[in-house]
Amino acid sequence: MRPLPLIFAVTAFALLAQEHAAPATKAKARATTPASETHGPPATTDAPENPGSALAELSAGNARFIAGKRTRTIDTAHDAAMRAALTSGQAPFAVVITCSDSRVPDALLFDQEAGRLFTIREAGNAPDLQGIASAEYAAEHLGSKLVVVMGHTSCGAVKALREANGKPLPGNLWALQAGMAGLLESTPQDPNEDGKAYGARLEEVNARRQAQVLLDRSSLLHDLAATEKVWIVPALYNLASGKVQFFKPVSAVPTPKSHH
Ligand SMILES: [Zn+2]
Repeated sequence: MRPLPLIFAVTAFALLAQEHAAPATKAKARATTPASETHGPPATTDAPENPGSALAELSAGNARFIAGKRTRTIDTAHDAAMRAALTSGQAPFAVVITCSDSRVPDALLFDQEAGRLFTIREAGNAPDLQGIASAEYAAEHLGSKLVVVMGHTSCGAVKALREANGKPLPGNLWALQAGMAGLLESTPQDPNEDGKAYGARLEEVNARRQAQVLLDRSSLLHDLAATEKVWIVPALYNLASGKVQFFKPVSAVPTPKSHH
């Protein structure tokens, strides 16, 4: 007797796990299940498996973007296969929290196609509660290994905050100010610093502060970061050069367990 029931069991498990399983995992399951002839695009089979390799993947993609040598986001021949492979699940390896600015196209500048990045965009890369919840969902439920909190040069939101200098902005824009509250107070202009340099410093400090906000406001992300299952990495995108500068992951102290 051939061990057919085992193959059926594996297939059934793969079907049951479909909703949440990583495409990469399913690709492996397919490899051991001769009955299946489905082929996914290469993109779904090489997801980084830890925070360090996730960061390396973004860094390599950004280097390709700077050089004008993108490889993952130019292959339109596989678009249909990519969509088909992603209908049954997603496993984005990284979360990108960045500004809504139209000049910060995260998928292009990291050269990552659909299914790879879980993106949250809000002006000033200052996530509100729903933004934080979205990051939690990706890390906890979809298995993302890295959260990049990315500001950028010439950020209009940071500029608006600075120019308002505490006076309320019109409409609902007060919420932007609330999201970046404390930035100006924590980072006063140096007497020898010109306006441009100060603006650039605010953009970097804002990215670092917002990464810290994630830790402070999310016990779930804090615990994942404290055990190094997820890195939360501030970053700054330079509009002119295309380069993303990554900073050190924000450090989380493990929460002591109350029982033993
Ligand atoms: Zn911006």
